[in-house]
Formats: sequence, C-alpha cells, structure tokens
Amino acid sequence: MPLMDRILTAGFRHNSRRLTRFKTPQPSESLPPPDRDRPYMLYLHVPFCVVLCPFCSFHRVCFREDKATRYFESLRQEIRMAHDAGYRFADIYVGGGTPTVMPEELAETLELVRRLSPIDSISIETNPDDLTPAVMGRMRDAGVTRLSVGIQSLDDKLLRQMDRYDKYGSAASVMSRLEGAQGYFDTLNADMIFNLPDQDDESLLRDVDLITRQAGVNQVTFYPLMSAESTMRKMLKTMGNVKFDREGHMYRLILDALPADYKPSSAWCFSKSEGTVDEYVIENEEYLGLGSGSLSYLDGILYSSTFSLNNYNRQIAAGRFGISRKQPLTKRDRLRYFMLMNLFGLSLDKDLAERRYPGFMRKLAPEILGLKIMGAVRDEGDRLVLTRYGMRIWILIMREFFMAVSDFRDLMRHAIKEELDAPGPLQIRLQSPEIRSPGRS
Ligand code: SF4
Repeated sequence: MPLMDRILTAGFRHNSRRLTRFKTPQPSESLPPPDRDRPYMLYLHVPFCVVLCPFCSFHRVCFREDKATRYFESLRQEIRMAHDAGYRFADIYVGGGTPTVMPEELAETLELVRRLSPIDSISIETNPDDLTPAVMGRMRDAGVTRLSVGIQSLDDKLLRQMDRYDKYGSAASVMSRLEGAQGYFDTLNADMIFNLPDQDDESLLRDVDLITRQAGVNQVTFYPLMSAESTMRKMLKTMGNVKFDREGHMYRLILDALPADYKPSSAWCFSKSEGTVDEYVIENEEYLGLGSGSLSYLDGILYSSTFSLNNYNRQIAAGRFGISRKQPLTKRDRLRYFMLMNLFGLSLDKDLAERRYPGFMRKLAPEILGLKIMGAVRDEGDRLVLTRYGMRIWILIMREFFMAVSDFRDLMRHAIKEELDAPGPLQIRLQSPEIRSPGRS
C-alpha cells in the first residue's frame, strides 16, 4: 500500500473507532425532542435474510416468518411512537437485511408512514430474487421511488465464492431479472463490490461494462470491500485474503471505464440522472433510525438501537424506543462529521456550513489546508470541491468509517450470539401466491 494510504488508513481507523465506541447503555435512554420546524430522514432496519452471505457485516439474522411478522408489528409501533413524540418525516430509507423479505408487511409499514407524514421519496434495498413483477408492483404502489438491488458481482466464479450463485442464480439470470425491473421506479440502482480477493482487473472491467451498458440500471454504486475484521478472518477460507493495496488501482479502473453519462453523485455512486443515492447520510445530516440495530444521528449524538430482537420487541411493548446506546460527538467532531459527509457527496457549500456551524471554515482551517496540500479538495467559488484524487481518498476514509461501524455491529451481535444461533422451525417465506420469489418457490 502506498505510504500516504497507510498513514491515512491508520489515522482514519483510529478516529472512526473513537467515534463508534458508543457508551455503556443507560436504562432511560430516549430520543431528544425533535425540531418541529422541519421533517427528518427516517431510516428503517429490516434485519432478515433468507440466506446469510459470508462477506456481509450488516445486522442480519436468518428469516423466520413468525419472528419477522412480530418484528414488523414492533417496527410500526415504534414509528407511531416517534410520530407521537413529534417527529415528522420527508424521506424514508429501508435497509437490511432484505427489506422485501415480507413484501406485504413492508408495504403496510411504508403506507403507515405515508399516512402520518407527506413523504417525498422512499428508497429500499432488495436482492435479485425479489425482482418479480408482483413484488416490484406492490413496492411501487406503496410509494417506493428508488430500488437498490444487491448484485455485488456479475462474475460467476466470484458469485460462487460469495455463496450467491446457488441463492440468486448465475450472472446471466441476475442480468435478465435486472432488465425486467426497468420502468417501475424513478431510480433503479445496482450495488456492486470492488476489490474482492479473487477479483482481477478483467473481471472488474467486465462488471462495469455489463452493469452500465447492458443491465439498464440508471444508477450504480461501487463499494470497496469493507467487512468487519472478524468477517474478513472468516472470509479467508472461502474468498481469500483482502488486500487493500489494490483498492486505489481498482477504483481508478472504474472511474476510467464508466460511460460518460454516469456522473458521480458521491465518491462511489454514479447516476444517469439526479436522484437519491445509497448514502442517505450525505443528503441528511440528521436522521432517525428505527428498528433493531439501526443508528440515528440527532443533535450531535449518535444513537444505536438494541441488536437483540427479543429486547427490541420487549422495549417497544413497554412503550420505550429501541435505543440502547449513545455516543455524543465533541464540537470539533460534529464539524468534521459535517465536512466528511458533505465531501463524500463531492462538495461542501461554505455558506451553508457557516450558517449551520458559525466559524466553520476558521475552526477547520488546519484540516482544510491539509486536504488542499494533498490535492484532495480545491476551492470553486463558494464551494469546496473534491478532486478526482480526493474521491480516491474519500473511498479510503469511508471504508474505514463503515468498517468501524461494522466492528461495532459485530461486537453487539456477539453479545446476542445465543439468540442469533437459536434454532427455529423451518419457515415458508411466501405470504401469498401472488407475491412469490421464483428462486425459492
Ligand atoms: S449481503 Fe444482503 S442478502 Fe447477503 S446477508 Fe448481507 S444483507 Fe443479507
């Protein structure tokens, strides 16, 4: 790894872990009162997956219909509680897990939020199995404007290594489902991963070509591989060793190979038209996360909800939010967080930053000077703009940030290992013959 990358990695790894340490839980942890003059971004977490991928560090558990049904009921109750507390929402992002694991339950949940607040946009994640006309039609009717599909790779060898070939089919069959998904939503996004251990330049370039020139998606997100440390140790057996020293080279290959009509919307998301991007944290400094394992950032404090589904259901039934831990940011960290997320979205509006945090440019002058000397940002009138080299640096920074979040998730999930490993009756996922997944029927 180049020396500069090593220094930056070490620095940001240290800072990211400090930010995501989260203090010991307080029994009376609750949400701060909302600013009633503005609506919030609402993040909802659905932690169920029919199959668990080896590289994944998200909060996910094996799907069981009884557990998931109960969970969706609790989630809707928590949404009502947030509304009663005065929170209003403009946009929704549903992540997982696989949010579409029970499409009818998800639709009911989205419809509830829409009845409580006028909603501008709804973005949900899904996997290739759920790209059926019935599921997509139901999601569109429930108000979804953006569908983000976890594809990861279109190389059959890599799909096999990731345990996805048997679950979601070959690259060719994934491609044909993606083509069938066109026209339902304003934005159809494909999530891809680069720097997989066994991925070479040729395989990556083929992925870029297939996903942008043949799949018909109008947005593509290329994430660097960024699993938690423990996940990377487990991946050694099936996928090989993760080498971060290739990351910069592979990122540059992507930038050079992307067709000109895919413009960067963030350091790793490229869109044909304007629309929501995967990282809602870019467009929304503050957001409320509901559901087990969700994170919130409100009034300078990061909150985490309990990762235990049992505790989550109990807390909601007792009339308490799912929150179990919090991490207040220092004044300086709040400014740095604002700059980090804005530049991840490619530019920082200096006037906006000054209005939000008076003295912003003066207080962060050393950091901004350092970024300018490195060639990562440049002044463009009233904005600080990320350069092409800066985009590469932000990939490294965000990788470290999300890996720190993943390590925190790992810690939390380890504490509830018995609950996650508990055996349960074999469940049938499908709710009705109309909404079915061909891959598993
Ligand atoms: S990658 Fe997606 S489908 Fe696989 S375990 Fe993670 S959340 Fe579930």
